[in-house]
Amino acid sequence: MKRLEEKIRQEGKILSDTVLKVDSFLNHQVDTALALEIGKQFHRIFAEQRITKVLTIEASGIQFAMATAMAFEVPFIYAKKKKAVTLQEKVYTAPVHSFTKQETYQVCVSQAYIGANDRILIVDDFLATGAALIGLVDIVKEAGAELVGVGCVIEKCFQEGRSLLEQKGVTVHSLAKITAMSPGEVQFMPGDDE
Ligand code: 5GP
Repeated sequence: MKRLEEKIRQEGKILSDTVLKVDSFLNHQVDTALALEIGKQFHRIFAEQRITKVLTIEASGIQFAMATAMAFEVPFIYAKKKKAVTLQEKVYTAPVHSFTKQETYQVCVSQAYIGANDRILIVDDFLATGAALIGLVDIVKEAGAELVGVGCVIEKCFQEGRSLLEQKGVTVHSLAKITAMSPGEVQFMPGDDE
C-alpha cells in the first residue's frame, strides 16, 4: 500500500536493525484517515471470504481491527492481555511470549464472542516474530471457528513470523512489507502494492 509505505519513509524512526518506531501515525498518535484506508484495503483483499468477525489483540491492533470490521459491517473483538475482574464468563486463553518485554502472558477472549459458526479475520499492527498472532490463531482453533486469514499492517519480512504462521496453514497478507532497514533507510518488497 503505497500511501502507507510513504508514511513509513517520511515519519518512521528506525531504532535498530529490527525495531521501527511509528508512534506519530500508528502506535501512539493515530492517523485516522490512514487507519480507515487500511480497513478498506483489508476488506478488498478478503472481500470474498464472508467474514463474520475481526479479531485483534489490545492495544495497537484495535484501530485497524475496528476500521476493518466497519468495512465488513461486522463486530470486532480484541483479546485482552490480562483477565479483568469484569470478565467472569468462560474464556479461551493462549500463552504469548513477548520478545521485546521478555515475559510470557496469557491472552484471553470470552467464549461468548467466538463460536463454531464464525469466520474470523485476524488483524494486527506488526508481524515480527509472530508470537502474538500465533496466540490468536490458537484461540480461533480452540473456539472451533474458521480462520480465514491474517492481515498485518506492517510486516518485517526478515523476522520469522510469516513462516511460522504459514507452517500452520495460515494465509497472511501485509500492507507494507519491510525487507531490510537501517537508520535513515527502509526497504520494501518491490512490486508489491497490496
Ligand atoms: P510479534 O513479535 O509477536 O510478531 O509482535 C508482537 C507485537 O510487538 C506487535 O503486535 C507490535 O505491537 C510489537 N512490535 C513488534 N515489532 C515491532 C516494531 O518493530 N515496532 C513497533 N512499534 N512494534 C513492534
